[in-house]
Amino acid sequence: MTIAAHDKDAYLTELETEILETGRDGSHFFAVTADTILYAEGGGQPCDRGTLGGSAVLDVQQVDGVIRHMLDGPVDLGPTRMELDWERRYDHMQQHTGQHLLTAVAADVFGWKTTAFHLGERVSDIELDTPDLGANELRRLEEAVNSEIPAGRTIRARRVSRDQYNGLAVRTRGLPDGHTGDIRLVEIEGVDLNTCGGTHLRSTAELGSLCLLDTERLRGGTRIFFITGGRVRTRMAEHEARTARLRQALDASNDQLIDEAERREAQLRSLSKKLRSVMNELAGLEAARLASLSQRLIAAHWEDRDMPFLQTVARNLVVEAPRTVALLTAGADDDGVFLIATGSNAGLEVSELGRAIAEILGGRGGGHGSIFQGKATRLDRREEALGLLETV
Ligand SMILES: [Zn+2]
Repeated sequence: MTIAAHDKDAYLTELETEILETGRDGSHFFAVTADTILYAEGGGQPCDRGTLGGSAVLDVQQVDGVIRHMLDGPVDLGPTRMELDWERRYDHMQQHTGQHLLTAVAADVFGWKTTAFHLGERVSDIELDTPDLGANELRRLEEAVNSEIPAGRTIRARRVSRDQYNGLAVRTRGLPDGHTGDIRLVEIEGVDLNTCGGTHLRSTAELGSLCLLDTERLRGGTRIFFITGGRVRTRMAEHEARTARLRQALDASNDQLIDEAERREAQLRSLSKKLRSVMNELAGLEAARLASLSQRLIAAHWEDRDMPFLQTVARNLVVEAPRTVALLTAGADDDGVFLIATGSNAGLEVSELGRAIAEILGGRGGGHGSIFQGKATRLDRREEALGLLETV
């Protein structure tokens, strides 16, 4: 194959061609064709997808200078038909062309050089060699890019010899190592002349608009995240759906959403603080109630309490009833917590006993001295655990 069909016309969606070679590459079938409209991954642009001879093309890769179409099934040698997943490709053409324009404007208007490009599934990014890019500059860059879009600047690809190339003012991140032969140039009329092997739109007008979303500092430069083309409306629709749900959840208008969320967060913090205080008081009362039973062995269970509650009860209980051994549990039988507390006069060390109780309760835990605590999945065996405690 000399120059692929997509290289000459990026808008071809079907091609009659010929399968010259077939084989297996790991778990995939592959085919090499006389010509192709499917772009092989490279230059920051992901590969195309489509079909070949009725099989789905899952991946397109250049292997030793030959383009392999990775397939989900076998195909026969000979004449065949190739179809392109146009929606995916057109999106790539928009993001890729948008990058050219963004790179050109960032360099010409602001003097920032692009050092990397990544075309993502939802968001793409470029890296600029400027360490400081504030919100104002980001908006100015976005304005400058968007003012070029409706101008409908023509985009063309052509090939030139090395000599011709050397005589042109080409913006490039450098030719690939070992490059020989002609050099493919992509021109956005009046804005940019660049070396590139990717697929591009015919006109900047097809971008519609380009939005700069966010920045990230890295290695002395700045990464800018952007979307363009159809992704702008897709993302807008996602934002609208999300804010509609937020309006409903917070019972507020768009303008009130942040204030309302912050108000509720503050309210929640305040309520949590009050709840902690009430629970501590309640745990103190429960400890006093248990201590008043004047039993050596005490067992208590609370279905809707948690470990911090058990800990507060235990702390109070061992002070009020120093001879006590207590088994405190909380939660559901198959998803609960347990705590063994012994008073200073109980004459009992809990670490070994605790492990035996944990085993009965189908859980794990740890502790030493007067407290052993853990999680349990068999709180229905509380009586059995108590039976063991009675024997010590
Ligand atoms: Zn390009």
